[in-house]
Amino acid sequence: MRVVLLGPPGAGKGTQAQILAGALGVPAISTGDIFRANVSGGTPLGLEAKVFMDAGDLVPDAITVAMVKDRLAEADAAGGFLLDGFPRTIAQAEQLAVSLTELGHGLDRVLEFVVDEEELVARLSTRVVEVDGKQVQREDDKPETVRRRLEVYREQTAPLSGFYEAEGLLARVDAMGPVEEVTARAMAALGQPQTAGQPGAV
Ligand code: AMP
Repeated sequence: MRVVLLGPPGAGKGTQAQILAGALGVPAISTGDIFRANVSGGTPLGLEAKVFMDAGDLVPDAITVAMVKDRLAEADAAGGFLLDGFPRTIAQAEQLAVSLTELGHGLDRVLEFVVDEEELVARLSTRVVEVDGKQVQREDDKPETVRRRLEVYREQTAPLSGFYEAEGLLARVDAMGPVEEVTARAMAALGQPQTAGQPGAV
């Protein structure tokens, strides 16, 4: 299956991406994670991306699209993938379609995680992540940057909902509530059967 997860920062995409990818047997590909790995590694890509990330802005499309194109051409993505945090602009979505056509594929489904904004701010301001074994707050989860990221989402990413709806690929998933309930809704939206003991089963 080739799936895109859409939704604002703090909607739980990263958590669900891991669970759903495991259940579907495909790699979860997070552009945010790839950028953060490059920032930690001090690579030229990381140095370039960091300026945008710290400001809560999007890394330019040209850089992001090239990075995803390379990642999708890797062997483990040949049988399917779950994209978390990409595409985030209409231009990225158009480029993704071109790359997939070149690879002889298309998307199967786009899941849009829907949460209310107050919940998002609360989730992000209390979120901790593990870096080198330590629990820390992400640099871009600071209140000022969170506000900017939500604004960027509304302006640049939210239009993707209509874009994919027009293609008949969109399914909206209520992302409020316990993780396992959201997983169950997402699996149902993907048309995946759930049996007891499987991730997402309730
Ligand atoms: P995330 O972990 O998905 O919240 O991404 C963290 C940051 O990485 C974002 O705020 C952007 O600065 C950058 N980023 C991640 N994915 C993309 C993308 N598809 N396009 C542009 N920038 C991105």
